[in-house]
Amino acid sequence: MTHSRVSKRILNLKPSATLAVDSLIKDLQEKGEKIINLGLGEPDFDTPQSIKNAAIKAIKDGFTHYTKVEGIKSLREAIAKKLLEENKVKYIPEEIVVGVGSKQVLYNAFQVICNPGDEVVLISPLWNTYIEQIKLAGAKPVVSKLSFPFKLVPQDIEKKITRKTKAILLNYPNNPTGMTIERNVLKEIAKLAVNRKIFVISDEIYESLLYSKVHTSIASWGKEIRNLTITIGGFSKTYAMTGWRIGFGAGPRDLISPIISLQGQTTFNTSSISQMAALAAIKSGQNDVQAMLKEYEKRRNFIYKRLSKIEGLDLYLPDGAFYFFIGIKKYLNKNISSSNQWAQKLLQEEKVAVIPGESFLYPDFFRISFTTSLENVKEGLKRIERFVKKYA
Ligand code: PLP
Repeated sequence: MTHSRVSKRILNLKPSATLAVDSLIKDLQEKGEKIINLGLGEPDFDTPQSIKNAAIKAIKDGFTHYTKVEGIKSLREAIAKKLLEENKVKYIPEEIVVGVGSKQVLYNAFQVICNPGDEVVLISPLWNTYIEQIKLAGAKPVVSKLSFPFKLVPQDIEKKITRKTKAILLNYPNNPTGMTIERNVLKEIAKLAVNRKIFVISDEIYESLLYSKVHTSIASWGKEIRNLTITIGGFSKTYAMTGWRIGFGAGPRDLISPIISLQGQTTFNTSSISQMAALAAIKSGQNDVQAMLKEYEKRRNFIYKRLSKIEGLDLYLPDGAFYFFIGIKKYLNKNISSSNQWAQKLLQEEKVAVIPGESFLYPDFFRISFTTSLENVKEGLKRIERFVKKYA
C-alpha cells in the first residue's frame, strides 16, 4: 500500500468552509443555543406549494423510476423555452442536461473540458467549490483577484490568459459579492473567448435574483460564443428548492453529450420527482419568485442602510443574489487578525453566524446572507454593531 490510505487527489481536496460553519452552527443549536444565522446561502422560504403539489402528484402517479440520464424531455423543453425567451439563447433539448444540482453539472463540465495541465481562469471573490472542482479535473485554477468594490473589467481576465487557458469561469450575479457583470464587459469577454477559442463556463444560478439590473447571458452575444459556452442554471436559489437537488447545463451538443455520458456512469438521472417539481416551477412559479425577490430586496435595502451607519466597514450595495461581502480590514488587529477569527468570536460572543472571507480568498472580508427574516436580520446587525464597537 502507498503511504496514505486516501488518494492524493482527495488528500488535496479542501472541504467546503461554508458547510463547516453550518456544521458548527448545528452543533451549537443542538446544545440549545439560539443562533442568528446569516451564514449559509440557502433561501429561508419554503418551496412554493404548486411545486410541492407537482411532486406529490408525481409520487401518487408512480412517476418514481429512472428517467433518461439527462432528464425528462418535457423539462428540457421547458428549460430550452425559458433560455430562448428570457436569456435569448437558442438550444434544442439535446443541448440541455439536468443534473443533481448545478453543482454536479459544474463538476461534470470541468471533467469534460479539462486535461491535466490546462488552466481555467476565475475571478475572485469566488465560490471556492470551483477551485476544488477544477483541481479534481486535473487542471489548474488561475485566479484574477479583484479589489473592493469588485467591479470587473475585461483586462482582469485578459492578463491571466496563457496558451494553456482552456476556459474562463464566470459567476454573475456573484457569490459572495452579489455583483453582476455589466453588459459591455460581458461583450468584451465574449470577444476575448471567441478570438482565443477559450470555453466559458457561465454559472448564472443567481440570474433571477437581480434587484435593478437585467440579466444578460454571455451565450446570447452570438453564435460563436454560444458554441464555446456552457451556461449553468438552477432551481435551488430561484425557487427555494435547495433540497430537491436539481440544476441544469446548456451548451453545444459536443460538450453536453459527454457530460451526459459521465453522468450516466456516476449518478444517472436526478430524482424523477424533483424533475416534475422543476417542470412545475418553470411553468407556474414566477409569481412566487417575484414575491421572494421583493422580500429579499427589502432586506438588502435595510442592511445597506443599517451597515452604512457603522463606521469603517467596506460596504457597497449588491446588484443581486442574497449576499453582502463586507470588508473589516480596519477592525483587524493583533487580537483578531483574520476574518476566520473574527467570525468565530462573533459566533461565540454574539451568537451570530457569518461566513469568513477566507472561504472566498479574502481574509479581511466576511459574507452575510439575508436568507432569514427581516426581524432576524435586524437583531443580527444590532449584535454585529455591538461586536464591532467592542473590538474597535
Ligand atoms: N453556484 C453558485 C455560485 C452557488 O453559490 C451554489 C450554491 O451555493 C451553486 C452553484 C450550487 O447550487 P445547486 O447545486 O444547489 O444548484
